[in-house]
Amino acid sequence: MPFSRRAPELTLDNEFFWSGVSDGQLLIQRCDACGAERHPPSPRCPACLSPKWTAQSLEPRAEVYSYTVVHHPVPTGFTAPYVVALLQWPSGARIVTDLMDVDPADVAIGMPVEIRMVEVDPGVTLPLAYPVREDADA
Ligand code: ZN
Repeated sequence: MPFSRRAPELTLDNEFFWSGVSDGQLLIQRCDACGAERHPPSPRCPACLSPKWTAQSLEPRAEVYSYTVVHHPVPTGFTAPYVVALLQWPSGARIVTDLMDVDPADVAIGMPVEIRMVEVDPGVTLPLAYPVREDADA
């Protein structure tokens, strides 16, 4: 495993997300009133304030919308430099996660990535992004 992490802190708002990750699904909230997708989880829609929502599954493929390369400070369990990316799906949904197995100099806006559920420690599974390489499906 690439590193060791603290287990996510579960709340009433994010329990569905982490339960989905444990089941191999990437779930976000979709507002029942206006249809807006949102992440991170929140009790009300930021667009219309409705408290009603439904969990919606995202496909594993997305693209890099933005990113940063972290050199310092280095939290426990990380090795610098590492890439933190804001990923975007065609629907407009966005999620922040680590971009793995890539030289920071090779990261680009629009880069195709896929989410993999990785058990980084026993009982701790995280949705991490990996570059989609043209020869990966061969
Ligand atoms: Zn809404």
